[in-house]
Amino acid sequence: MKVKVAEKCGFCHGVENAISLAEKVLAKGMPVYSLGPIIHNKDIVRKLARKGLKTVSRIDQIGEGTVLVRSHGLAPRQIAEIKKKGLSIVDATCVLVKRLQKIAKQLEKAGYEVVIIGDKNHPEVQSVVGCLKNSSVVASGEDLRKLPKNKKLGIVCQTTQSAEHFGQVVGSIVREGFSEIRVINTLCREAQKRQASAVQLCKNVDVMFVLGGLDSANTRKLAELCKKYNWQTYHLQNWKEFDKKKVSGKKVVGVTAGASTPKWVIDEFVSTLEAVNRKKIRK
Ligand code: SF4
Repeated sequence: MKVKVAEKCGFCHGVENAISLAEKVLAKGMPVYSLGPIIHNKDIVRKLARKGLKTVSRIDQIGEGTVLVRSHGLAPRQIAEIKKKGLSIVDATCVLVKRLQKIAKQLEKAGYEVVIIGDKNHPEVQSVVGCLKNSSVVASGEDLRKLPKNKKLGIVCQTTQSAEHFGQVVGSIVREGFSEIRVINTLCREAQKRQASAVQLCKNVDVMFVLGGLDSANTRKLAELCKKYNWQTYHLQNWKEFDKKKVSGKKVVGVTAGASTPKWVIDEFVSTLEAVNRKKIRK
């Protein structure tokens, strides 16, 4: 059995930056808080928690110290609340999320009703919604009835969506007959490269493993795309969830990982899978 790893997979710049900023602040020995998990990967959250990073769900749970704004960003209202409490802020918002927030605000200022194609429950989308007076979040073509018929629409997209999905939803909006729409491509190139690389690989393997947090939007998108082209695709958090039956009789196995999956999770998975293959260990 041959194990092939996607050419582009694992940590992106935004995630690397958030972890390195967290480590720098923690090294100063001050209390550091993250509103929600710093990244959608339990292994990294646990590692940083051991160094002192506290994950909370609300600002009122923070008494003193520094708040690390994770790569998904925060709404201006939340930033103002943190400042009002006299807490320090370390901003790890990814530059591409900042770009999306800026574009959405510019569209609103120019008189467009902003439409965000994405998941309304995702923190990145919530941070963008929080920058605007009015907006609509559309997950798929089925949500179009939410859109105001008589307005001109300014369309952006959650950074980690696929180009395919973005295009499909924009196409559906056009077919609805809106007279004026302006579309700005706010997709993340890093996520796009991981998706293209995963799709290319999954088409040429017998079984595909996508590694990463189950609540990681970009990892879920990778798994969803791979499943389209290879039904034998499995989204696992790490090696512990591996089931040997999935590779029984398979000749070529593909592995990819989301932008929030550390390299050691990928390396551990590949090396242990190769060892299982050589029958050196039992699983
Ligand atoms: S996936 Fe893209 S948008 Fe998200 S943190 Fe990474 S670089 Fe930024």
